[in-house]
Amino acid sequence: MFASMAVRPVVVWPDERLRQSSVEIKEIDASVKALYQDLVDSMYAENGLGIASLQIGDPRRMFIVEPKLAGLDASAPPVAFLNPEVTWTSEETQDSEEGCLSFPEIYIKVKRPMRARVRAMGLDGNMFEMEGEALLARCLLHEHDHLTGKLLVDFVGPLKRQMIKKKLQKVKDAELEEAGVKA
Ligand SMILES: [Zn+2]
Repeated sequence: MFASMAVRPVVVWPDERLRQSSVEIKEIDASVKALYQDLVDSMYAENGLGIASLQIGDPRRMFIVEPKLAGLDASAPPVAFLNPEVTWTSEETQDSEEGCLSFPEIYIKVKRPMRARVRAMGLDGNMFEMEGEALLARCLLHEHDHLTGKLLVDFVGPLKRQMIKKKLQKVKDAELEEAGVKA
């Protein structure tokens, strides 16, 4: 509880910041490490499985994945993916509901490859590759989508998109009311 926490508010769609183009990370300096820590704190605050930097309003190309999902010990730090690239996906697909911290309380059925491989630079500057299956593949591809500006709503038609917009507006209004602010 004495660690310095920097939970940043998660950017919620249709905020245009989610569509910014991401910027390659050229050097792992203190500000990149601070961004990683903010991602970690913000992801855990929201109980997310992963989060991408655009979701906390930073355009640098990074996402993180929760350690247990990434096949590590639960007490390990979340895995950082800097400048990630999808290098392979399986022909076999999976079809299940997907959520996103930028779409609170919304779940959308998204068809994705069953397995995927992502190459990225770690926080130590070394390149690594991770292959995921099922939920991990889904998470890797979802977070990678964020860095290309692609979002859950891009998988649905215009009517469903309108419905999601209304529902998120309601969630936002309810939150403002709860905070005692008249919207
Ligand atoms: Zn997301």
